[in-house]
Amino acid sequence: YADLNMSLLGGGLPPNKPRELDDDGHVVYGWRPQPKFTPLTFTRGENSRLWDRDGRCFIDIGAGQMSVNIGYGHPKIQNVMRRGASELTYVAPYFATEARSLLARRVAARLPGDLNYVFFCNGGSDAIETALKVARAYTGRTKIIAAWQSYHGATAGASAISGDARRLMAEPLIPGVGRFHVPGQYRSPFGATSMDEEVAMALEAVDNLFKLEGPNSVAAIVIEPIIGGSGLYVLPSKFLHGLRSICNKYGCLLIADETICAWGRCGEWFSSHRYGLVPDIITTAKGVTSGYMPFGLVGMNENIRDFFNDRAFVGGLTTEGHALACSVALANMEVYEEEALIERSSKLGEYLLNRLNEIFSRHSCIGEVRGSGLYAVIEFTADRGRKSSLAAKLQKNSNSLGDLVYSLLLERGIITMAKNDFLFVAPPLTIPEVDLDYAIKSIDEVVTDIDQYVD
Ligand code: PMP
Repeated sequence: YADLNMSLLGGGLPPNKPRELDDDGHVVYGWRPQPKFTPLTFTRGENSRLWDRDGRCFIDIGAGQMSVNIGYGHPKIQNVMRRGASELTYVAPYFATEARSLLARRVAARLPGDLNYVFFCNGGSDAIETALKVARAYTGRTKIIAAWQSYHGATAGASAISGDARRLMAEPLIPGVGRFHVPGQYRSPFGATSMDEEVAMALEAVDNLFKLEGPNSVAAIVIEPIIGGSGLYVLPSKFLHGLRSICNKYGCLLIADETICAWGRCGEWFSSHRYGLVPDIITTAKGVTSGYMPFGLVGMNENIRDFFNDRAFVGGLTTEGHALACSVALANMEVYEEEALIERSSKLGEYLLNRLNEIFSRHSCIGEVRGSGLYAVIEFTADRGRKSSLAAKLQKNSNSLGDLVYSLLLERGIITMAKNDFLFVAPPLTIPEVDLDYAIKSIDEVVTDIDQYVD
């Protein structure tokens, strides 16, 4: 994997420091080279703050991996976990539990349109694996069409439909995957002069892809309505509805991957709501339990559920519908409601975006600021006019922009994801304003430092 650009892989901790833990040598870490960093060792969390074993406090404006939406150490979840541990944590998946039944009903009430049936799994990747199997079984077709700009997970099928560089270690990929470009707002893959034209060209390319692949062979289009980990692109509504029409025209399913962009992260329960989009299947994870338990789910409509009435749903893992995870997810949904976090994300998100745009106006190293709800990204550039990559410029001297931004923030007690040209801001939806303001001030200082690298 000589070509694999390591700076693409998950931002990371400060490189080239000696190991701090003598008992850490047996751990294999994902998404990064093994020996080059010293992980911080955290022992406690409360809302947006984390404490390491030396008692140092950090503000986590990445919410773990855009997952800890209700903040760390929430007392309601702690109580549910205590109770669950003493009552029943797990039974075989073919038995019912009250928590699973109730959760499915509550989730169905929040899912868009007629998506009223829910299958539970362990995370975002296996939700995607399940969705792909369901789409193939239901349509009797095999091919999957997905976006170059998307990440869908690290398992075999999810890697194969991921367009970005994170798919590379899974190659050779499962066959039958076609990819398209989403219309670009900041950088345009189609070179159109207006967004309407860009969307039309993007949709025409998808339609041509269907024709080339053979429309009757395509089982599904998979799309993140708001593309998350690869740089945060809020897709134009017309494009998403255009994909819906293409699916209707060719009789394939539309799968919305809302692993990140649901549960208030982008200001709605599900981002499909924002667009009035009704996919056939939705996958999600992360904010479903705010990271307190590994968990994910697949929502589907009645036609799809009924397809499995007289044939087996051949899929499901040992911990499918895990009782404790379901109880945690239920309580987590109650926290969103009781603390009005979806509304808070939308409102505080506007404030965040305004503040970041104000920083943008003063710093030439920023090409664009984008966001939706409490999810924003700063995209750096070496030259605002040409929109050239600052990360690529630094990479020429073997420097990683992501690592640099990460360490400069860490020095100020701020933790978040920074990779390639992107600095992500995705705090817990519960973040106190004082923490958010401190983080924004720190970002301003760091960006001032980064200005020296522009052309
Ligand atoms: N889909 C999307 C859109 C994601 O962002 C992610 C994870 N970042 C996944 C799927 C995979 O989820 P998980 O890591 O829980 O398997």
